Amino acid sequence: MATTAFSVSLGVHTSAWCQRGGWFVNNAGWICGPENTVVVDTCATEVRSRALLAAARSSGYPGAPVVAALTHAHGDHVNGAGLVARGGGRVLATSAAAREIAAGPHTYPETFICCSGWGDITPPPAIETVAAPLSVSTGTVDVEVLPVPQTAHTAGDLVVWVASEGVLFTGDLLFHGMTPLALSGSVLGWLDALEWLEGFPAAHLVPGHGPVATPADNVTGTVADYLRWLLDAVADVDEPDFDALHRQACQRWPHWAEAERHTVNLRVAHAETHDYPLDFTGTLEAMTSAAGGAPIGLDL
Ligand SMILES: [Zn+2]
Repeated sequence: MATTAFSVSLGVHTSAWCQRGGWFVNNAGWICGPENTVVVDTCATEVRSRALLAAARSSGYPGAPVVAALTHAHGDHVNGAGLVARGGGRVLATSAAAREIAAGPHTYPETFICCSGWGDITPPPAIETVAAPLSVSTGTVDVEVLPVPQTAHTAGDLVVWVASEGVLFTGDLLFHGMTPLALSGSVLGWLDALEWLEGFPAAHLVPGHGPVATPADNVTGTVADYLRWLLDAVADVDEPDFDALHRQACQRWPHWAEAERHTVNLRVAHAETHDYPLDFTGTLEAMTSAAGGAPIGLDL
């Protein structure tokens, strides 16, 4: 593993599992109890996912059954779900995410190279779909698994809310200090979802990527400002100069890593505001070109 992973305690029973790095390096977490350990998301590779699951077991109740709640279908968050299932655990996701996970694993070999190897990332044989808010008791706290009401980061997002500890796992509705990615979702819907997110009285926000935040960090507001900028940049332009807009975005958010995502997000925003289907393959090619040429190496 090229980058470190570490846990951050956010309450008596709740921890975030934080990883630092670029593409496919995500945050996860868990809520422990004697009846269940709820794991929020897995990781991109078998090695990283095994480290997460071992940490979750060792920090609380080693014998408790594992319930994995997957915030969305992207491989960095779900590639370890098969490990959970084959270990006797349950896997939860929205129906849209479940369909995409079952068709995986998603590694996008034309766009990315993973030198370290993915390991066994076979999808889980079965996923329980979450169509409405679902409460899972760990035996100590109730964990709320809540589908996001609209297409946002993807068409099948969910969040995990631990009310008694004030912890909200947002999945990739929040990127903290790095460029968000709207390739599989809706910029307009994502803005609505952020407003919905503001309704949770959270003390701690665990973003899909980047450091754990508090409301004072205004991560939600920062992502919303960015999404509004995308829409403003393209909404009234028939044929945008995506290269020029990409450079503008890099200047506005100079410290955000994975800046090649700007060119994706601008294209998503333009397709959405002009009501035409996104050229997915062409958009990925533009992204890899913005990153300096395909394929992008993964530091896993
Ligand atoms: Zn994602």
